[in-house]
Amino acid sequence: MAMTIDTTPSDKPFLSLGAGITRIDTGFFRKGMAACYLMERTNEQGIVEIAIVETGIAKTVPLLLQLIADKGYSVEQVKYVIPTHVHLDHAGGVGGLMSALPQATLVIHPQGARHMIDPSKLQAGAIAVYGEAVFNETYGVLVPVPEARVQVAPDGFTLPLGQSTLTFYDTPGHARHHFCVLDSLSNGVFTGDTCGIAYPELNVNGVPFLFPTTTPVQFDPQAMKDSIGRLLALNPDYFYLTHYGAIAVTPDLQVALYEQIDVLVQIAEAHPDASERHDALCEALMVNMLTRYREQGGRLSEAQARAFLDADVGLNAQGLAVWLERKNSTR
Ligand SMILES: [Zn+2]
Repeated sequence: MAMTIDTTPSDKPFLSLGAGITRIDTGFFRKGMAACYLMERTNEQGIVEIAIVETGIAKTVPLLLQLIADKGYSVEQVKYVIPTHVHLDHAGGVGGLMSALPQATLVIHPQGARHMIDPSKLQAGAIAVYGEAVFNETYGVLVPVPEARVQVAPDGFTLPLGQSTLTFYDTPGHARHHFCVLDSLSNGVFTGDTCGIAYPELNVNGVPFLFPTTTPVQFDPQAMKDSIGRLLALNPDYFYLTHYGAIAVTPDLQVALYEQIDVLVQIAEAHPDASERHDALCEALMVNMLTRYREQGGRLSEAQARAFLDADVGLNAQGLAVWLERKNSTR
């Protein structure tokens, strides 16, 4: 099935990709940073069933409800809410969204369920990283989800949606509470953060500029490569990235993904001294990305490209440092 590959950033919050899948801009920090997806599928009785993959943050909830209303559906038609993992750009809006969707079941990785039922630890962790003011401004309050509405999805779990099937794969590497979801109708995978980030603004002649995300605190390079390998073995035609949008899965892209994980690890290992690591590691990661961007033919100015990559470079440096310390301490 041919899907819309959005190679240019869009000003619209909603973009229909085909196969009953709509991409929604979550409004997380800036336009084009984080997406979520609404899937609509007709069952044998001719009734449309809806699933939402990723929820964005609290302020994404009214957007999703508006889209459901615009399409002429009732909130009762939403069967599943499916965050790929519990990081807040993916699952921050879960509680508020579930409150508005009376028939929906929250489908979550077994290791993430307790944080949805009681988000206090998640909230405390995020406040520790961002500070209370930024947390309140960005995420608002995390709403708990009643345990009876939570379905855990272990590896190989399947769910019917209309006449299609969603299959869940345990995909550690970015986080241990991360699964990816294969959609049988479009032969695409909702990859969360397992298969990297590609901002449409950095596409070059329609080719995504894809790079891994090593956010703290559970980055594991070998697990990430194994997870990507498992997903690629399914022969998907598309990855639906949370950051950001649908990309076609090509042999070049597969090679680049593996290579970049190794490159990030090598760059981290070249900065063994924890006391003066962060700034140097950030700059080394940025230079690697900018060099690769130029090699690919990228034409944005250095300042523009840096602006798109800056936040992820900082997070990647932190996550690589945590991984390096963990590896050195268990030797
Ligand atoms: Zn993310």
